[in-house]
Amino acid sequence: MEIINKMTLIFSSLSINESFARATVAAFVASLNPTIDEITDIKTAVSEAVTNCIVHAYPNTVGSITIDVKLTDSDVYITVADTGVGIVDFDKVKQPFYTTKIGDERSGMGFTVMESFMDKVDVAKNKSKGVMVKMQKKLGRVNKILAEG
Ligand code: ATP
Ligand code: MG
Repeated sequence: MEIINKMTLIFSSLSINESFARATVAAFVASLNPTIDEITDIKTAVSEAVTNCIVHAYPNTVGSITIDVKLTDSDVYITVADTGVGIVDFDKVKQPFYTTKIGDERSGMGFTVMESFMDKVDVAKNKSKGVMVKMQKKLGRVNKILAEG
């Protein structure tokens, strides 16, 4: 399906920006007329990905987080990217309870949550440095208004 709307958001990896990012993505996706449940799912997934950038990608510094959202008339594509420390073991990160912050308040369930609320989640190396998380969700109803421009 053709991409008919898109936006990019770049912000600092500060905890206070987590709710900003989640709410901004939700407001943008609202143009597709999603259900409350779909919006909640997307907000939760974005929240987990952004928190990972804040906590893991830039543990002792503040860096940039880039969120890119693309919409067709019924599909949402979200990428959350950082240029932080990166991931060594890509095979392990999606396993439930896998965390590199043992003894901390982390439970290792972030990717499991993202996968349960979105249709597809890919974790990969970012082009330059760091991590890029790509997520995809198909909404239950097609937005005719947006589709017709
Ligand atoms: P929780 O999300 O439950 O608080 P967690 O963040 O450790 O715990 P996941 O979100 O599933 O669990 O992430 C698993 C692991 O993947 C992390 O512990 C971390 O090692 C690594 N990771 C995730 N995102 C990034 C990132 N953006 N940069 C570097 N490492 C990451
Ligand atoms: Mg996490």
